[in-house]
Amino acid sequence: MKQILLVLSIAAAFAQSRSVAITIDDLPVAQSGPRACDFDALTKLTENLLRPIQQNRIPVTAFVIGGGCPDLTAAQRKAVIAQWLAAGAGIGNHSFSHRPIEQIGLAEYTVDILRAEPIIKAATGGLPLRYFRSPMLHTGTDVAAKRGLETFLKEHGYQQSPVTFDNSDWMFAYVYAGALDGHDKALAKRVRAAYVPYMESVVAFFEKRSVEVVGREFPQVLLMHSNRLNAVALPELLGMLRKRGYRFISLAEAMRDEAYALPNEYAAKGGISWIHRWSMTKGLPNKGEPDEPEWLTKEYQRLKK
Ligand SMILES: [Zn+2]
Repeated sequence: MKQILLVLSIAAAFAQSRSVAITIDDLPVAQSGPRACDFDALTKLTENLLRPIQQNRIPVTAFVIGGGCPDLTAAQRKAVIAQWLAAGAGIGNHSFSHRPIEQIGLAEYTVDILRAEPIIKAATGGLPLRYFRSPMLHTGTDVAAKRGLETFLKEHGYQQSPVTFDNSDWMFAYVYAGALDGHDKALAKRVRAAYVPYMESVVAFFEKRSVEVVGREFPQVLLMHSNRLNAVALPELLGMLRKRGYRFISLAEAMRDEAYALPNEYAAKGGISWIHRWSMTKGLPNKGEPDEPEWLTKEYQRLKK
């Protein structure tokens, strides 16, 4: 009995020590096009997405694409960002055009970052921009581009926002939206049912990988996107994380952990978790996170045509 109690109390202490910062990309909305960017639809989606965040006072950081939803007026953009600010979100820069660094080169990439600044600042009422997140997590395919970007960000007062719980929520969301638009209720239901179990498999993988690569679990950073799927599934996603013992912290708090100062020499095309980057820098064998289900990939490819 004593032994059982000891095991239980160790498990509880371990579970309580887990923490995660939630980051949400591609504001105003990840699925662009006239339908997703319709102001009323956008306001409603944002309201639904933010409800559990506001209710639970979760300190999220959200990344804005300066050129996202170009048909919004400045006042409409400001109104949507005001919803995020009212929910306590921190706002970061996710570039103007969302083009990856290798596509346009470092020089144009830095112009693209700066081009987003006045738009985002106009929408937030001039709040300082502290964080940048590279579109697709692409941070430079060679050492020169990688170092150049790091120097540029430092000189302009930005911190690159790492991601440890990297995942394919965007693929689930794409198929979910396609199913809704195509009135395919069965497919929408299937995606919805598979989403959080998939996310849990990714979280469980990176928990284990953290111990292998960093020697311990540390405050994680979860990436997700502003989309219709998360607008309905977020309460379940938060419940899954809570059940695994996570409390929700800010990006700033997570990044204070010394794990984020580990050497990172990764310079290649993949937009991968920082845990993989540290692992490769240390010369450890690669291990990939769980894939999304095969049927989902097939539906994604079908809808993408
Ligand atoms: Zn993005």
